[in-house]
Amino acid sequence: MTTPKTPSVSSKFSFADSDITFKSSDSVLFHVHRKNLDVCTEGFPPAGISTDGSIVELTETSDTLELLFRFVYPERHPGLDTTPFEVLAPLAEAAEKYQVFPAMNICHIRLRDMAEEHPVEVAVYASKHDYPSLICEVAPMMIAMPAETVMEILPAHLVLPWTRYVEEWANVLHSALIPPEGWLASHRDNAKATAFGAYQAPATACSWPYYVIYCLQRLGVGVTSLCSLDDVFDMTTPPANRPTIDDCCQRALVNWRRQIEEAITQIPKFSDFA
Ligand SMILES: [Zn+2]
Repeated sequence: MTTPKTPSVSSKFSFADSDITFKSSDSVLFHVHRKNLDVCTEGFPPAGISTDGSIVELTETSDTLELLFRFVYPERHPGLDTTPFEVLAPLAEAAEKYQVFPAMNICHIRLRDMAEEHPVEVAVYASKHDYPSLICEVAPMMIAMPAETVMEILPAHLVLPWTRYVEEWANVLHSALIPPEGWLASHRDNAKATAFGAYQAPATACSWPYYVIYCLQRLGVGVTSLCSLDDVFDMTTPPANRPTIDDCCQRALVNWRRQIEEAITQIPKFSDFA
């Protein structure tokens, strides 16, 4: 017969004069002070749960609670600047859920710093907990996401502004499909083609039309391609038997890309539509 496992107690939160005890999802007890929770939070203890002497079970892990409860005591709070995303994300959720105000602010700042590596998660967090300025910051990264994902993330009142925002990106894409030096003329020898299939360059002509078609294929994926211009203009991994790229074409590609990047900087901020 096995005896039930005794829950361990957090080494930091084991105050003898504690008047409320929480249990993490991985069975660690936290003995803390009700008055600290009253002063620093709005959602502790969770509504609807009786706290008269019994242990309050929470769904968060002990790692999360260990950090969270430090924010309700008068001590130097964790800076979270080296906290990995896997730890920070549940902490931020818990801070919002229980309205632990001192933790909410720092979590929000740290998650903003991680938006580039975790755009989906940060967008969900910003939308769910109503951080409009953070949504605006993540918006350009959300352009790279599938439209369906974005629709799932966004609250209903932001769907129409989002559609208008995407339209601005679509306009940029439309103008991006016209390279500054044209589609078909070679940079040398006045070589002209009448159609893609009929293109026959003189021996001295460069292969500009070839590179144009190559980039257009990649841009043709849609507005998401505007978020990965490195890939669009990457000429290091083309199919076999491509012609060697000439300096004139190289310059023209740089120029084309610069034109697109410039247009992207002109796109209004998402907040202008919201
Ligand atoms: Zn050329």
